Amino acid sequence: MRDFTHARGTGAARIAPVESEGAVAAAVPTRLVYDFAEGSREMRVLLGGKGANVAEMTRILGPDRVPGGFTITTEACVAYMNAGAEPEGLEAQVDAALARLEARAGKRLGDPDDPLLVSVRSGARDSMPGMLDTVLNLGLNDASVHGLSEATGNARFAWDSYRRFVQMFGNVVRGVPGERLEAEIAAVKAQRGATLDTDLDVEALEDLTARFKAIFREQTGEEFPAEPRDQLRQAILAVFDSWMGARAVSYRRINRIPDDWGTAVNVQQMVYGNKGDTSCSGVAFSRDEVTGAPQPSGDFLVNAQGEDVVSGVRTPQDLSEFGEVMPAAHAELMEILQTLERHYKDMQDTEFTVEEGRLYMLQTRNAKRPAQAAVRFATDAVNEGLLTEAEAIVTIDAETLEALLHPTIDPHAEYSVLTSGVAASPGAAQGEIVFEARDAVEAAEAGRAVLLVRPFTEADDVAGFHAAKGILTSEGGKASHAALVARGMGRPCVCGASDLDIDLEAGTVAVGGTVLHAGDLLTINGSTGEVTVDEVALVDPEIGESFLTILSWADDLRRLGVRTNADTPEDARKARAFGAEGIGLCRTEHMFMAADRLPKMKAMILAESEAERRGALAELRPLQQSDFEGLFEAMEGLTVTIRLLDPPLHEFLPKLDDLKIQAERARHDGGAGELAQLEHLLERVGSLHEVNPMLGTRGCRLGILYPEIYEMQVEAIVRAALAVRERTGLAPHLEVMIPLVNYEHEIELMRDLVVSTAHGLGLEVGRDFSVGTMIELPRACLVAERIAHHADFFSFGTNDLTQTTLGFSRDDIEGRILAKYIDRKILDRSPFETIDRPGVGELVKMAAWNGRLAEPDLKLGVCGEHGGDPNSIDFFENAGIDYVSCSPYRVPVARVAAAQAAVRRGS
Ligand code: ADP
Ligand code: MG
Ligand code: MG
Repeated sequence: MRDFTHARGTGAARIAPVESEGAVAAAVPTRLVYDFAEGSREMRVLLGGKGANVAEMTRILGPDRVPGGFTITTEACVAYMNAGAEPEGLEAQVDAALARLEARAGKRLGDPDDPLLVSVRSGARDSMPGMLDTVLNLGLNDASVHGLSEATGNARFAWDSYRRFVQMFGNVVRGVPGERLEAEIAAVKAQRGATLDTDLDVEALEDLTARFKAIFREQTGEEFPAEPRDQLRQAILAVFDSWMGARAVSYRRINRIPDDWGTAVNVQQMVYGNKGDTSCSGVAFSRDEVTGAPQPSGDFLVNAQGEDVVSGVRTPQDLSEFGEVMPAAHAELMEILQTLERHYKDMQDTEFTVEEGRLYMLQTRNAKRPAQAAVRFATDAVNEGLLTEAEAIVTIDAETLEALLHPTIDPHAEYSVLTSGVAASPGAAQGEIVFEARDAVEAAEAGRAVLLVRPFTEADDVAGFHAAKGILTSEGGKASHAALVARGMGRPCVCGASDLDIDLEAGTVAVGGTVLHAGDLLTINGSTGEVTVDEVALVDPEIGESFLTILSWADDLRRLGVRTNADTPEDARKARAFGAEGIGLCRTEHMFMAADRLPKMKAMILAESEAERRGALAELRPLQQSDFEGLFEAMEGLTVTIRLLDPPLHEFLPKLDDLKIQAERARHDGGAGELAQLEHLLERVGSLHEVNPMLGTRGCRLGILYPEIYEMQVEAIVRAALAVRERTGLAPHLEVMIPLVNYEHEIELMRDLVVSTAHGLGLEVGRDFSVGTMIELPRACLVAERIAHHADFFSFGTNDLTQTTLGFSRDDIEGRILAKYIDRKILDRSPFETIDRPGVGELVKMAAWNGRLAEPDLKLGVCGEHGGDPNSIDFFENAGIDYVSCSPYRVPVARVAAAQAAVRRGS
């Protein structure tokens, strides 16, 4: 209760609705330009990540280490987009900032004798591919190139800079095709017998520059702009325009970045890595970016400008050689990397240039890194005294951790990507293609590894999921049926690989020119969404020392409990190995799906009388009991929450349409006995048919209609618990859960049934077990106080609660509607992945609050998919929930995410 009141106090204020997060104000702001010296890392929303960090570096490393410049704000970009024209005052403010920069540099833009040159660099809040590439050496023209040559005494450098500028400006700002320009370089090289760009002499570079200008004229119908202020203006507006370019827009859609962030533009004095053998450009990570090991890693190129390092025109040298080539600059860089790490309290990814032996830092940011590197850094940083455990744990992207639990493609393997889709469930899987679930089952029984490949999947396909190594679909997204089930089972999955043309009739899958058949080998990478036909090796995961350490810190830091959703002893054991503290949801219906159960289940459903039904149930009871025994043994005395039967009964019966066809066929050529049987079945199935089963006869409504079903289940649970206690001395802590409660009388009735059935067998409520309910209907949230009087716990079934609150049928809206909604910016992500805070979340908070008002000791859990989603876990931490429950492979993710949420709340 203490936790909860606290959460209520702090929670309401911190939980901002998703839509309002970080939108940039619509009114045109007056201040549009900031000098680097004025900014800081806290200003990332306004200055973009690059600008904010360049400003921060200027402060901590001093202005001599970071070339000067200024940032045009993201608000200026937004104002430009909204008005379709340069915002009022921008030109004057850029002029003023430029004048300050010129004064500082002691050079003027466009000075024919000793020109100031600048780079123009885009930089959104988060680094984002699809944005405009950087333009270097802006300010050069036919006159100032001579001045630069004379001022530096280096004509080759001056002309190399000029040809780069004409090339980049033409390509980046005016869209002259890069290939045409590269082809020209190749032609000049061939003509002069040069192999490297650096082999080209002054004359060759002059020639190239002239050729580039000619191509520019031909492509744009204009002369190359000679006036530096005009060059600058065009470049700035091109950066703004690129924010709405197709590449950037589609990247934002995929990564859920709102359009109204806008991008900043950074204008920065040039330093030159292309001044000869004592100059270079490079990138450096403060630690190894793949493994996280403490040695800095990176690449550099002597006598080159930065774009060469990343563009792959020349092959860079490994950073390990930097110390030999330029010892002094190397030593400085090593020290700066440490300073930056200490300052940012995170691993850094930097860009630098050395001009005639002098080191300059051009960029720094927290390094994006794979899970193993993130985990290694976090533990090392604590050992080194750089970070506390709490600080270290929040540097990890919890979402990526699941990758450490699945096999992966050998990191050294080279392969070509056939196509790609949504990375829907992590890990790599390899096997022969099968198109039907039953083929997957058959192949698995024969010991073959298969991948289930389908346009999309349905409930019927689930047996195939278990049998397959992985799932590949051409439709659906991260919250599609295939993705959800695959994640639940820990199967790698790639969804929505929309270039695949899957023909189930023909048994083929085509993409590009390739046609694959059943039996062909395929590998999917559910962590990246890639699909390949190459034979790549898979390697087993290792839960290394570092990861275990992180998990133990997480357990110390977190308040939320972490349980698992598991229906089988195998899953239960796996989840416990991953640290699950109990089962938060055992779905009993899966137990009736197995081949030896289904006929008995059918007989029970088709029974004509209660007596007949009880007869069938009596046959099911020992089977169910033995399932529970297996589960309870696997949990060794931990809590197990068992949900009584939930789905509509017809899910266990053949499909109505299939039966009709069979009956039709039997009428023609079958025996009379078979026909009579089919007709009877048809009649029963027809009578159970529902227009909208999700809202029909399911959940506790089943228990009220057929109490004998729930009685049988309770009996099986109680007998299993007694048997396990007898055998192992460890009784599970039982929690019996009533699904889909709306009215307090529903739970009152069902609670009585459970309590009296258990009492008859010797178990007492309160002492031996508790009874609670799933909260998955909006009404239940509204009347939580009444329901709580009859419940020992609430478990929020956030999947159904999302469906019923939003009126979204998950399977129906997922494809077309969700995609469109994201496209039209109605939603920024699927509410089935991350909880809809203002809607569903608010109901959860209300039910938690009102439930606790009635019963201060009420236990609160979450057992929907959201229980394994870090963003949702952050919400649950603040909503006063006691524990989350998620699929086994999400358990470590949830432990870390819960710790992060607790750290964030505490700070
Ligand atoms: P990206 O976002 O693609 O990394 P950047 O704006 O960081 O683009 O620029 C890419 C590279 O261009 C930098 O790493 C650096 O090498 C070079 N560069 C950018 N600005 C300058 C500058 N003022 N002086 C020298 N090199 C620069
Ligand atoms: Mg770039
Ligand atoms: Mg960069």
